[in-house]
Amino acid sequence: MKYISTRGQAPALPFEDVVLTGLAADGGLYLPQSLPAFDAREIASWAGLNYCELAYKIMSPFIGDEIPQDDLQNLIEKSYSEFRHTAIAPLVQLDHNEWVLELFQGPTLAFKDFALQFLGNLLDYILKKRNQHAVVMGATSGDTGSAAIEGCRHCDNLDIFILHPHQRVSDVQRRQMTTVLEENVHNIALQGNFDDCQNLVKASFADQSFLPEGRQLVAVNSINWARIMAQIVYYFYAGLALGAPHRSVSFSVPTGNFGDIFAGYLAKRMGLAVDQLVIATNANDILHRCLSGNDLSRRPLEHTLSPSMDIMVSSNFERMLFDLYDGDGAAIRQLMGDFGKGAMSLPETRLSRARELFSSYRLDDSETLEVIAQVFNETEYLLDPHSAIGVQAGRRTRRTSKIPMVCLATAHPAKFPEAVSKAIPGCEPALPYHMRDLFNKDERYTVLANEAAVVRGFISTNLRT
Ligand SMILES: *Cc1c(COP(=O)(O)O)cnc(C)c1O
Repeated sequence: MKYISTRGQAPALPFEDVVLTGLAADGGLYLPQSLPAFDAREIASWAGLNYCELAYKIMSPFIGDEIPQDDLQNLIEKSYSEFRHTAIAPLVQLDHNEWVLELFQGPTLAFKDFALQFLGNLLDYILKKRNQHAVVMGATSGDTGSAAIEGCRHCDNLDIFILHPHQRVSDVQRRQMTTVLEENVHNIALQGNFDDCQNLVKASFADQSFLPEGRQLVAVNSINWARIMAQIVYYFYAGLALGAPHRSVSFSVPTGNFGDIFAGYLAKRMGLAVDQLVIATNANDILHRCLSGNDLSRRPLEHTLSPSMDIMVSSNFERMLFDLYDGDGAAIRQLMGDFGKGAMSLPETRLSRARELFSSYRLDDSETLEVIAQVFNETEYLLDPHSAIGVQAGRRTRRTSKIPMVCLATAHPAKFPEAVSKAIPGCEPALPYHMRDLFNKDERYTVLANEAAVVRGFISTNLRT
């Protein structure tokens, strides 16, 4: 399978190179040249498969013969063996034809484990085959860093450096990263804010001369195609559990960078009968504004109770635009250029197509808290603030109660205890049993000045040889 850039000017690449490359040379994002599609008979034949077996069926056409069947199956098995629920992505019923898909059963309690457990193993596999070592570098405001570290901690050919803003992430989030003591894992507490962390990472990717000969930086943020690919699986898994291909299903997705819901859109194009796809946003609502009023303008970032969705610009929306523009790379270059200057708008024909594909809804913090309390009163089920946004957006936008609505639960409530106890006074969600000693473990991290030379020096002296 070959991959092409959304901006049409970078060379087409095979799967493994795309995984190592991240952003395309022309600034675009990689997408498969053609999408695999499955007919209803084939989908029906998957009804009895477990999560890993299904993952193989769905991911292997994207990879082709670059990875032999046994190796890919092993990579998948290994990636989901750390999940503490044997169903991997269990469905929980909230109401008649309303379901929560629990995507927080992985090691760091957020859905990012689905992609990053797999990506870590995949990178290590490709690098070993090529006899190479690489360096993962990333910035985090919370969830991504810990998921990336858990995904890479056992990788022989990867060293990982994660920058977080010093004293500006929650205790649970920091400890999930800093109590991982493997020698290839390095946490940098930067004396600056999240933007400073991100700028330093960007500058390092642009000039990698501080790395020894033969080493390169690898991106594990959601522009990496392998992350999207791994996320397509759970849409099929939930659909099959609820009767696909004989019955359609709708999904409501708490959305930030548009990676997760884009995977849902691909599942639909690949043959899953999806009725509605709901974009659920917090006050950082550019996607909701786009669909409801063709307003794609940048606004200042707001800090909300659902911090993993506090994103001003959803980078994966570019992949969606590429489809809405029928693969016209020149048009995407133009659009993204306009957007860089502040705003873009879509012609009516493209916008109406987007409206056919997606519904959207926006919640502010007070409505988010109300939903957490309401669902708890109805069922005693505890939602984290991100998942609550998904549930409410599903309730507000669904066209019929005859089709099951699956709300993606993207984080465990114990990751965001302040919001939960604000919504339900006296309620303090407990960490899962296997994490009960998180606050007794040793931590290791290094506080560094917000200076490129200092961070680069730290990285180059701490690489494994
Ligand atoms: C990352 C994240 C999201 C947003 O997912 P995108 O793929 O960026 O749209 C939502 N909820 C939680 C808990 C997350 O960590």
